[in-house]
Amino acid sequence: MNLDGRRIRMVMELRRLGVTDPRVLGVMERCPRDEFLAPAWADQAYEERPLPIGYDQTISQPSVVGLMLQALDIKAGQRVLEIGVGSGYQTALLSGLCRAVYGIERIKPLLDLAEERIRKLAIRNAFLRWGDGGLGWPEAAPYDRIIAAAAANDLPGALADQIKTGGVIVLPIRQGDGAQRIWRILRDDSGFKTEEICQAPFVPFLSGAVSGENREWA
Ligand code: SAH
Repeated sequence: MNLDGRRIRMVMELRRLGVTDPRVLGVMERCPRDEFLAPAWADQAYEERPLPIGYDQTISQPSVVGLMLQALDIKAGQRVLEIGVGSGYQTALLSGLCRAVYGIERIKPLLDLAEERIRKLAIRNAFLRWGDGGLGWPEAAPYDRIIAAAAANDLPGALADQIKTGGVIVLPIRQGDGAQRIWRILRDDSGFKTEEICQAPFVPFLSGAVSGENREWA
């Protein structure tokens, strides 16, 4: 089966696994996930499994990406902060769902590659920055939505500060028992309300930006 066929089969599988939002399914059907992977992994791009993207990092399996985007419940005119750009795949999906994406990645060579792919796909509403996502991106705050692709121990204070009232944060949190659960956190007038979405393994949310030389990302 060619890559287009595999992508359509992936979308059918996503529906079965609980991704039902037509806008999320639409962007996932259009986005070439294979172009966000090294050539050695491209033929597995549409399989329901996490894949390596270099520098000891992984891209989540399609259903986890889909369920997180669905939980984020993005409206067309909104601005979204993304922590952990990684390959740039989720950034590309977000760009099709909102007005502007502000993406932060701490490993410089990953950010450079993601930037190249985003440019190649002619995406113009994604703004990328090399830095520590735990600090957020205060200059462009507040955001309607915030999403993180790495598991933190708690909701970082800067992200809590940078979400609008009425805004939603989707982020994996490492629990005391070692399990990682994805939470949907809604900020309203009275504070933060949390709701569990599902469990999935994630790479850790680490502090500090690294250049990627001398295996210093590990
Ligand atoms: N959404 C990505 C998944 C990448 S994996 C994709 O579609 O490919 C998670 C990424 O989060 C890794 O690249 C890791 O380097 C990054 N990361 C972890 N902690 C971070 C932090 N504090 N700030 C920015 N990026 C971070």
